[in-house]
Amino acid sequence: MGWLPDLADPTFRPGWREQVRLHWVANVIMLRSWHHTVGFILWSLIALPGWLMWAWFFLFLAAVAAKGSLATGAFIATTALGLIPILAIQHMAFVVAFRRHYAPCYRMAMNRAGTPVCEGCGHLLGQSRAACPECGRVA
Ligand SMILES: [Zn+2]
Repeated sequence: MGWLPDLADPTFRPGWREQVRLHWVANVIMLRSWHHTVGFILWSLIALPGWLMWAWFFLFLAAVAAKGSLATGAFIATTALGLIPILAIQHMAFVVAFRRHYAPCYRMAMNRAGTPVCEGCGHLLGQSRAACPECGRVA
């Protein structure tokens, strides 16, 4: 799993105007799909308990700091460090949501724009439109 997921074969390098257009169409495709929209939101909410715990932790430490029992620097450092695992989980949830629910929509947009691509893995299919040699998916 990369830091940011691949949408398609890395040899596919559209210009920025084409990228904007493909993302626009991909967003419309995703928003018209109940499955992809709800799936994306649910995956994105995975870190919510962590955010709530962090908010509670922040308020608790802020109250302790207000009483003078915790230095301001320690308060800032502790609450900032507490964000790191939550941001990591949030990012991983985003990558999964992106791969499962956005990337297929982007590939559908590529197919509609005339670039045959496997909607399962993003492999460029050329003109054959047979089963994907990379993942075996049949269009
Ligand atoms: Zn494939």
